[in-house]
Amino acid sequence: MTTIQPKSGILDISPYVGGQSTIDGTAQVIKLASNEGALGPSPKAVEACSLAAKSLHRYPDGACAELRAALAHMYKLDGARIVCGAGSDELLDLLARAYAGPGDEVMFTEHGFLMYPIAAKGVGATPVSVAEKNLTAHVDGLLERATDKTKIVFLANPNNPTGTYLPDTEVRRLRDGLPDGALLVIDAAYAEYVVREDYQSGIQLVEDYDNVVMTRTFSKIHALGGVRLGWAYCPAAIADVLNRLRGPFNVSAPAQAAGLAALADEEFTEQVREHTLAWHDWLKGKLIGLGLEVPSEVGNFVLVRFPSPQAGDTDFSNGGRTAEAADGFLKSRAIIVRRMDSYGLPDCLRITIGTEKEMRAVFNALAEFLG
Ligand SMILES: *Cc1c(COP(=O)(O)O)cnc(C)c1O
Repeated sequence: MTTIQPKSGILDISPYVGGQSTIDGTAQVIKLASNEGALGPSPKAVEACSLAAKSLHRYPDGACAELRAALAHMYKLDGARIVCGAGSDELLDLLARAYAGPGDEVMFTEHGFLMYPIAAKGVGATPVSVAEKNLTAHVDGLLERATDKTKIVFLANPNNPTGTYLPDTEVRRLRDGLPDGALLVIDAAYAEYVVREDYQSGIQLVEDYDNVVMTRTFSKIHALGGVRLGWAYCPAAIADVLNRLRGPFNVSAPAQAAGLAALADEEFTEQVREHTLAWHDWLKGKLIGLGLEVPSEVGNFVLVRFPSPQAGDTDFSNGGRTAEAADGFLKSRAIIVRRMDSYGLPDCLRITIGTEKEMRAVFNALAEFLG
């Protein structure tokens, strides 16, 4: 015990543990643990980032004016209501700082993104995790649990790590049923990977309501996790609040340059999308063919469930083919995927979609493991 103590809530945070990137003693690893883009960033983004490095002595444009204009043009938005951040993580955190505090509740779903409880506890608010149904956000459950104390509802749509999503009609039913004073934050980090008729990223909801924010990231489809870049589309009053609260230069110049170039390289983005969709479906089909359960539907990853010895299987007749054993086997083949224990899914692994070679390698290894 030292004399200096942080505010209440902070020591309740379990520090976020990112996906592993190395295996001791293995030079070449296949990293499929952090949902990073399958094909790396656009070469044009890399070039723009290097060029920006020549002016590292200059402060960045604190308003991210060019980038916001490009986003506004691409998605037909009001650029004045876009706020950029150092990753969408920063924006989630700013929203919590602005709208929740001690005595308030911050709601999210059972297997929601781990940044939500961190953001809630960081401001001393009470994190409230609401049960899902079939690994999917359960609107009635959320509505039943909401109270006047609910200040923020974080909904990842689609969700990571479950890879499930709510159709637009359900998101609207959620918004309409929540107290008006509860801000609905739609985290659409994987929106670009969803090509389903009933899905909407949340832009129209932001237009239709004054208490909905949508966040997006350059870390996934644009594969720019390393520069930290995200954005939020907000009602005007909320954009104003975030602009007061954020650091004046919260997005670095290389990040802005890389983001602009990535956005402009539509051909590359399309190539990544097509590649990811095709190999997502290939891997999912192959894993189901091995007898595994794959509950995820969309995103640049698959969630795979392994036979669980606890599930009425008292004689351990799964032969030790647990997620933990599979993860160990994959590591012995220099393949890093993500264990899901911290998400309350210890019988699952999450595998990011990578290159064709990486997908064939992970499938072959799992076939060998189960075989
Ligand atoms: C990856 C991810 C993000 C993006 O985080 P950044 O800070 O923008 O890198 C946000 N939400 C979810 C659900 C994610 O999986």
